[in-house]
Amino acid sequence: MTLENDQDLRELIQKAALLNALQHGGKAQAGALIGRIISERQDLKTEAKELSGLIGKVVNEVNSLSSEEQKRMVEEKWPETLKKEKTAEEKALPPLPNASKYTQIVTRFSPNPDCVLHLGSARAIILSHEYARMYKGRFILRFEDTDSKVKRPVLEFYPRIREDLAWLGCKTDEEYIQSDRLPIYYEYAERLLREGNAYVCTCTPDQFREQSLAKKPCNCRDLPPQEHLERWQRMLDGGYREGEAVVRVKTDVEHPNPAVRDWPALRIIDPAKYPHPRVGSKYRVWPLYNFSTGLDDHLMGITHIIRGKEHLTNKVRQEYMYRYLGWTYPEAIHYGRLKITGAFLSKSKIVQGVREGLYAGWDDPRLATFAALRRRGITPEAIEKMIIDVGPKTADVTLSWENLYAYNRKILDPLSDRYFFVSEPTTLKVKYIPKIFRAKLPLHPEKPERGFREYTVTPARDGAVFWIAKKDADAAEVGQVIRLMELFNVKIESVNANLVEASFASEAYEEARKAKAKLIHWILKGEEHPCQVVMPDATVNEGVAESACKKLKPDAVIQFERFGFVRVDTNDAKLTAYYAHK
Ligand SMILES: [Zn+2]
Repeated sequence: MTLENDQDLRELIQKAALLNALQHGGKAQAGALIGRIISERQDLKTEAKELSGLIGKVVNEVNSLSSEEQKRMVEEKWPETLKKEKTAEEKALPPLPNASKYTQIVTRFSPNPDCVLHLGSARAIILSHEYARMYKGRFILRFEDTDSKVKRPVLEFYPRIREDLAWLGCKTDEEYIQSDRLPIYYEYAERLLREGNAYVCTCTPDQFREQSLAKKPCNCRDLPPQEHLERWQRMLDGGYREGEAVVRVKTDVEHPNPAVRDWPALRIIDPAKYPHPRVGSKYRVWPLYNFSTGLDDHLMGITHIIRGKEHLTNKVRQEYMYRYLGWTYPEAIHYGRLKITGAFLSKSKIVQGVREGLYAGWDDPRLATFAALRRRGITPEAIEKMIIDVGPKTADVTLSWENLYAYNRKILDPLSDRYFFVSEPTTLKVKYIPKIFRAKLPLHPEKPERGFREYTVTPARDGAVFWIAKKDADAAEVGQVIRLMELFNVKIESVNANLVEASFASEAYEEARKAKAKLIHWILKGEEHPCQVVMPDATVNEGVAESACKKLKPDAVIQFERFGFVRVDTNDAKLTAYYAHK
């Protein structure tokens, strides 16, 4: 009875029990506490029996309290534990730099609509959106579609990108399309030229490069602004052909980084050869990336630019222009590369593969496009959680598909109903079944309230016939006991290519456990529904699902037991599902 009087110990147990109860809907589990207590009180190792008696007592006391009372006790006695638990649960992003300087935080995501979005864009999208949300700011979508020659925008991708963002749960507050904004870019180009901060360079690329590498101005740079304004007009009017003139922003001809020296801001694209998919041949002078992006970030009031560190040099380039225009550069956060092992394809490879018919479409399961992930039942919440856990750190991060699957599994597991799918069905005949069995299979093992699938197995002279997976049939050995999940145990009598014969062994699960019997899933013959599962490598797994699957609606995500999570794609005479992961 010595432990009973140990007040410190009682407190320790009470604290652990209360916290455990709060985690488990008000009911602490005594079994979970013993190890924890002993880890803090090694001296009690030898008194485990007495200790567990005391724990049982304290747990009973704690469990007799209402959740509110439990919470109040913790708040009074150990308030620090509540705070700690919260931060561990919800991993939030670190605060934005200088957020208080701005009345409203504005972030943007600015894709080129030359492909659908894929996992590679997830970080830019989710961080930008999440920060805007965190600060009750605005999140802007800006289509950067000013290159109709090399990174050609495609009309179909504008709505697809909007759709992808909506699916990700990243609601946009404003949307801009750069190809609508050419007059704005022209206005600023003219101003920079007029004020001598930009010039029209008519050197050949080789000539310019040579001068630039020698840290010398080209022959155009120091001509009077009037000359450059005339050249500018000629660019607009068609007096120069593609490649014959480019507007450059003056930086420092001796800048240590040659890529920063007098960067190109606008160029000519032959409108007859490369008409723009939205505005056709209306314009022949188009802004280059740093010019339009740099201007728009200021003009749209972006306060924080969140992008990969490969953009660091772009900041240096654009800051020259900001100085000329008297603007302040937004806060810029440059995160490290996020690599996913078993890497996915670049946008150009995706577009090419789909165009050439190598992939069935933008949502081909082999692709890492959001469309493909969506089709497979990968949830946007899993992607979001993974990205937020990584955060905006500057170090490179490598994740695997397994990481993403683990996030997704956590989300799907409590939500997904369970069913049986038998891949490559093989016949199992079970003889000597002593009575009628009614199998009652829970839709979810931990949530009986969701209901059951029920099948009746009737004894027959020739034996009852089931479908089992070829894999399980191949592994069966004569004399072995196998349990048909939630039904009964059978003893294998013979194994042939397309037929396994067995006899009824016993009913109780306990018997199977004792015999260390393998648990396999099954479908009663006559209760099957044709089913195919499209795997991530685009191969198709043919089989049958249980008849309860007939009612499943497209988009439902379920778990085929012992097989994996799948998303129902179509379901009529045959169910077609896409495989997510184990
Ligand atoms: Zn020049």
